[in-house]
Amino acid sequence: MEKYQKQYMTITNILLSLNSTIINEVLQKYYIIKCLIKYNIQKIFDILTIYLDLKVKLYPTSKLSGIIRIYLNNKTDEDDTSEILDLHLYDCSIYKYHYNSIEGFFDCNLTFTSYSSINYVYNQYNLKLDDLYYRRVNKKFCYLIHNFSNLEFYIKNKVKLGNILRQYFFNKINYATKLIKDGWIMDDFFLKDKGWSVNYWNNYYTNINLIKYKNNVKLPTCCYLCGKKFNTDINDNNIVFNINDLYIDLECIITNIYS
Ligand SMILES: [Zn+2]
Repeated sequence: MEKYQKQYMTITNILLSLNSTIINEVLQKYYIIKCLIKYNIQKIFDILTIYLDLKVKLYPTSKLSGIIRIYLNNKTDEDDTSEILDLHLYDCSIYKYHYNSIEGFFDCNLTFTSYSSINYVYNQYNLKLDDLYYRRVNKKFCYLIHNFSNLEFYIKNKVKLGNILRQYFFNKINYATKLIKDGWIMDDFFLKDKGWSVNYWNNYYTNINLIKYKNNVKLPTCCYLCGKKFNTDINDNNIVFNINDLYIDLECIITNIYS
């Protein structure tokens, strides 16, 4: 592990010294480094090949992105992830990455690392690094852009969604659900009453004032779409989507998006 950490440091230092920005995505696997680059991928690959005494392979995924795989033990064993480091490189601006990635618009993914300003917040949203750090330690996160109101309208008026919107809503809800299953709590910290969240029903039931950032919230007892009663049992893994006063089972909201 020590050897691994040393190589990890060396590789990130090379990337940072090339003016790259390292993405600190919270659900990232330990053997993946996501990175926004300023030089083209071939150039980064050449430099890594020169400086690292290791086997390195380049897999271009598009004109502006690619994966560089580094074999830490110098053997090309594709299955052993403990000996592999994958650099996911994107030749684009932080703005473009933030708006187009699935994990964008979640406050827990707003911190980045660069050579000139070690850890910093992508400061479009008026949030402080301290706050984000504290929230990350406490496994709390929220959504940042007021663009889910359409979904509420579509649900209430039984409107069918087009493919692009369908995929958009699904990807964002699905990403939030992965965090929930990893023990995080989603709240309305930034958007307040314009926000949306997914959580275990038990967390809504016991922490609603902390999640909604207001007092005296009236919780319904059953799903808005199917009418089934929510389960308040602490051991139950009933995951629920919320926007405004609508509370909907995860399965029901996904089925609704795709119907
Ligand atoms: Zn339901």
